[in-house]
Amino acid sequence: MAYDSNNIFARILRGEIPCDKVYEDSHVLAFRDIRPHAKVHVLLIPKGPYVSLEDFSARASEAEIVAFHRAIPKITAELGVAVTGYRAIANSGADSHQEVPHYHLHLLGGQRLGPLLS
Ligand code: 5GP
Repeated sequence: MAYDSNNIFARILRGEIPCDKVYEDSHVLAFRDIRPHAKVHVLLIPKGPYVSLEDFSARASEAEIVAFHRAIPKITAELGVAVTGYRAIANSGADSHQEVPHYHLHLLGGQRLGPLLS
């Protein structure tokens, strides 16, 4: 699937649409989900043009992949969920119901979550 440079997260990255930012560095941006599914619900995205987890894992540079994962403990500390725990989910592709075609990791916490599959 080709990357759509007008997807909503690309527009957030370009500053065309506002977001509630919680973390940013040269490779990633993290911001609160507009329709939160938990008290804490943040989306972590790479700044590069990757459609999905599949695409990011295949094409991103090692520096981008490391930066993406190194950002997680910084964000969870900032959000206060590093100790209490959180869930990380990446929908990838049509069967997963991925809505926005720019790779993103959902970070959910701030409350007791139910089982993932029930
Ligand atoms: P997906 O289903 O693609 O894994 O998740 C996309 C997420 O992006 C959804 O949880 C949705 O609420 C969130 N989202 C969609 N549009 C916007 C937006 O304009 N701003 C923010 N902050 N989140 C958005």
